[in-house]
Parts: sequence; C-alpha cells; structure tokens
Amino acid sequence: MHEFDAFLDDMRLQALAAGLPAESFAEWTAALAPDDRVIQRSANQPEHIRTASDYVSNLVSDARIAQGRNLQATHSNLLARINDRYGVPAPILMAIWGIESNYGQGIGTCSVLRSLATLAAIGGRRAAFWREQFLAALTILHRGDVTTDQLVGSWAAAMGQTQFMPTTYLEHAVDFDGDGRRDIWQSVADALASAANYLDAAGWIADVPWGWEVSLPAGFDYLLAGQDEPRPLAFWTGAGVLPATTSATNGQCTCTLVLPAGSAGPAFLATPNLQCLLIYNNAMAYALSVGHLADRIAGLPPIAKEWPSEQPLDTEQRRELQQRLVALGYDTGGVDGILGRASRRAVQKFQQHCDMVPDGYPNRVVLEELRRSR
Ligand code: CA
Repeated sequence: MHEFDAFLDDMRLQALAAGLPAESFAEWTAALAPDDRVIQRSANQPEHIRTASDYVSNLVSDARIAQGRNLQATHSNLLARINDRYGVPAPILMAIWGIESNYGQGIGTCSVLRSLATLAAIGGRRAAFWREQFLAALTILHRGDVTTDQLVGSWAAAMGQTQFMPTTYLEHAVDFDGDGRRDIWQSVADALASAANYLDAAGWIADVPWGWEVSLPAGFDYLLAGQDEPRPLAFWTGAGVLPATTSATNGQCTCTLVLPAGSAGPAFLATPNLQCLLIYNNAMAYALSVGHLADRIAGLPPIAKEWPSEQPLDTEQRRELQQRLVALGYDTGGVDGILGRASRRAVQKFQQHCDMVPDGYPNRVVLEELRRSR
C-alpha cells in the first residue's frame, strides 16, 4: 500500500524532528503493515443513533452494578487513597472502569502502532488526529513505560483499562503503585488513579455529585432547559424543581437542567461535574450513564421516571429537520445532521411558536409539525 509507506516516511521525519532516535523508529516500525480489520471497522462504523434510554440501559446493567460493588469493596483502600489525592469518589471511578473496559476485562488486543498507522494512512477528515496519536504512541515507547508488544488497545487505539488515547496517556497517566512505570494496562492502581487525575485536570469538584434526577412541577417553563445556562440551586428549588428520588444535592454549585429524552422523559439537574465526564466521550447520554452507574454502585435508586419509547431520528431525518427549520428562518448552526446546541435552540423556538412544549427535544413529533408548517 503506497499510502502506508509514504505515511511512514513522513512520520520518520517528524519523529526525528521530535527528538526520537532513528534506530528506535526503525525498530518500532520494521514489521508494521496495514491492518485490514481496522480498515473494515473504520469504513463500517455503525451510524451512532441511539436514544439516551438505549445508552443507559446498555451501559448500566444489573451485572455491571453488582460487579462494580464487589470490586469497589475489593479495592476500597486504594480508592480511598485516590480520592484523598484527586478528590474523585470511588463510585465514579468504578463506573468509568466498568463502562470503558468492563472492569479491565476488555482492554483490546490490537497493536496501537498498527491501528494508528492504518487509520492515519487511510487519510480522510481525521488524518491529522491519527498522526498526532501515532507520534504520541512513539513517545510512550521512547519513555519506556511499555514495550511495543504491550502497547495494545481497541481497534481505534483506545488503550488500557481506562481506554486513554495516546495523547491523553502522555498528559494524564500516573504511576500510582510506585513501580516507576505508568501501566494503565495491567495495574489497577495506575489505571484508576490516571482516570482520577484526568477528571481532576478537567475541573472535577470534590464532594459535589454529578447531578440528580428531579421532578418538574405542573406548568414548568421548559425554556429554562438547556446545557448553556447554569443557575444556582436556589433558583431551581424556587422554580419547583425538586429531587425525584434522593436528597443528594449541594447548594454550593450552579446547575443546568438536562432533559435527555425531552419533556416526556426523566429530568436531571447537572452540576459542572457532569461536564467533566464528557472528556471521555462527548455525548450527554454517555456522561449520564457514567453518573447513573456510579449512583447505582453507591446504592442509590434507579431512575424513577420511565423513558418514553420512541425511535430516534436517523441522519436523513435530522438533516430534514434542520433544512425545514432553516427554511422557516431559524438558525440551526448548519445543516449537517448533527443536532447540537444551536439546533436544539432552534427546535425550542419553533416549538414555542407552535404552542408545543418547548423542551428543545428533536423527535418525530417536531419533524411532523415542521412538515405541516410553511
Ligand atoms: Ca506503576
């Protein structure tokens, strides 16, 4: 594969410029060849359309809750020391560990160098990202934390029990068991402390929950929902937004109201700590799943309100929704099938205009209403 050789030639120059020894580069890349499985996986990534409800029920299983409780007891001393150092509580670390690698059982067996070289050589929209990760992986080898054989990960090069990308590893991995190596593959202490260090760097606030489920009063003003307007807890209490199942609240921080399935589904007040969980995977449903799994491991009750059963809009329908909103003069921040903040705001304004509940949740009901509007 011509692109592959050209890629390696280019990387050799960059590696030397970054101060990596030529002999080492030659040794690490001598047997490197494209990985067909990675090419196939990368071409056939399933379209990522799942509802928040699918996410949570997938990631927060009874088995995972039970195993998390057992392992939290097993590692209680270690988890207490990590909490002392980084201010991140045990259940959050257990939830990340459980979701990212099934508590260390699924760390992947693909060569990180081979995966990254394959992905970078394919080119495309994310080529620069994969190249940066490839250089970071070489730097990991140069530092001597692991050998090339030990440098394994998922097909997309997420590494170890916390599934760190190489750049994340370089910045945030720590040697917590004190053997001189940062080993997030084999050392539970290093893996969990590295996750805590990463959250600490992202601004995790100690002794503050990620959030909690709330119930909304009749006649609630749904224009208050959205991730971009944090308000003091007293404001929400004053608006009749009360804990649904627990009293795990903290008056010190501001909160946003999150409606992952719109007004028909569960509602949550989220502290800034929920935003920190997005560093692992920038999807609100993922962050909520981590938070909820942590709560369940800690013994808190399941989500009280039932999720609405509905099919999520597919990419074509999302694009149509945006096109129709734009045609009516609303600003969706582009027509790309990705429903970000601007699109949700546009949905909210459209709902308000048609006397629908303005929860900003883009579903089939909204799309049908748009089709009727002109
Ligand atoms: Ca270590």
